[in-house]
Amino acid sequence: MRILKFGGTSIGDAESAKRAIEITKSEAVHVPLLVFSAMGKTTDRLAQIGERAAAGSLGEALALTADLYSYHMQMVEALNIGADDRDGVAAYCDDIFGDIRELANGLAVVRELSPAVLDRLLAFGELLSTQIMRAAMSGAGLPAAWVDARDIVATGESHGGAEPDAEATARLAAERLVPLYESGKIAVTQGFIARSSSGAITNLGRGGSDYTASLLGAVLGAEEVQIWTDVDGIMTADPSLVPQARNIPVMSFREAAELAFFGARVLHPRTLLPAVESDIPVRVMNSRNPGSRGTLILAEAPRDGRPVKSIAYKEGMTLVTLVSARMFKAHGFLARIFNAMDRLRLAPDLIATSEVSVAIALCDGAGVEALVRELSDYGPVSVRKDQAVVCAVGESIKSTPGTASQIFEDLRDVRISLISEGGSEINLSFVVDESSLPLVVRRLHGRFFERAAIEGEVS
Ligand code: ADP
Ligand code: ASP
Ligand code: MG
Repeated sequence: MRILKFGGTSIGDAESAKRAIEITKSEAVHVPLLVFSAMGKTTDRLAQIGERAAAGSLGEALALTADLYSYHMQMVEALNIGADDRDGVAAYCDDIFGDIRELANGLAVVRELSPAVLDRLLAFGELLSTQIMRAAMSGAGLPAAWVDARDIVATGESHGGAEPDAEATARLAAERLVPLYESGKIAVTQGFIARSSSGAITNLGRGGSDYTASLLGAVLGAEEVQIWTDVDGIMTADPSLVPQARNIPVMSFREAAELAFFGARVLHPRTLLPAVESDIPVRVMNSRNPGSRGTLILAEAPRDGRPVKSIAYKEGMTLVTLVSARMFKAHGFLARIFNAMDRLRLAPDLIATSEVSVAIALCDGAGVEALVRELSDYGPVSVRKDQAVVCAVGESIKSTPGTASQIFEDLRDVRISLISEGGSEINLSFVVDESSLPLVVRRLHGRFFERAAIEGEVS
């Protein structure tokens, strides 16, 4: 049994959506569940509609809504939807767009977009895509049944990315998905969206459809979860930054999770958690090139003798450094700093410490200023904005002598602010100015993957 998830670009136009149907049809085993993201850039557009309306630009918000409506209606027109379904689907889209307009009007009055309202607004994207894809799947002769993910994926009450309640989700999925599976149906459901126990619409955070697929795959005991996207699986670097990036045929759960946590957008960072717990392989595939091998992610991947498997990066970081001579030989220094971050709900990406100093790399955001205020009680704090974290990942990084010197050898002219190799067995991360990021990633890629290719080491 395999679970298939199609991302936004894999259903971004009619041709791609038809390919997704063909891919589903070509699966040799019964697919009990299809998970879809919103079509194309719909989620970004919905966020923009909310933001424009709340800023008082109602006309702009309604114009964006009209464009999004035409886009979805064109999809309905272009897909092979049966005559019996077409009116129902069109009416569903009309209703949703009525709700979007109503919400935009309300936002323009209150002039505030709360995280809870934003979650409600963003959910429309997946509701639309799955209604349309369910009808197109039925039109292609597949036994598709639409399922509301909000009735299955249960979360806590946070907005803008909530924590799933694994137990409740397992119970609800067993109640609602298993009977469909047993009757030979293909459940078509939304990635990303969920509901809290108080009944509020929530989600698993941007890019969260991958996580929905692995959560539900684990509950159903799937033999494999397939993430269909727009590149040939997981690559040696982000191909949008490094065109020479190449496919990685096999990786371990740890390597893929590390890459995702350090910014590789190809997988939502939490996707591998349920897969690890239930030992379910995850396969990342290219819907534009279904014949390509993609990447298989397994509990243990064979070592290929290369210390670095892939390079990830995260932009929009700030580096906060505190030096406090007062703290020399005084205990409790780090505890106070960690407490402050806990209170401010800040999750740092990298930390380096000495007895009297600490450097913290974290995402830009409102919390950074509050942290700086708190840390200033202990000594002078410096803040460097527009930073990026670069992360080299590989199971053999630590065990291969000389990897660190290889990494930094070509970066002698680059300002490197924080280096961390200790936190995890399998990554080496450091902070650079955002402006030098493309150069750094390309040079590292050249050293670890392109030179090796020239020397004939890569298959
Ligand atoms: P989807 O809509 O299918 O979820 P995403 O845009 O979320 O697609 O993720 C796919 C994108 O991830 C790719 O187009 C690529 O630019 C980016 N990406 C970043 N790092 C990597 C990597 N190491 N391997 C493959 N893709 C990557
Ligand atoms: N549509 C959502 C987003 O754009 C979820 C996803 O694509 O995985 O963030
Ligand atoms: Mg994604």
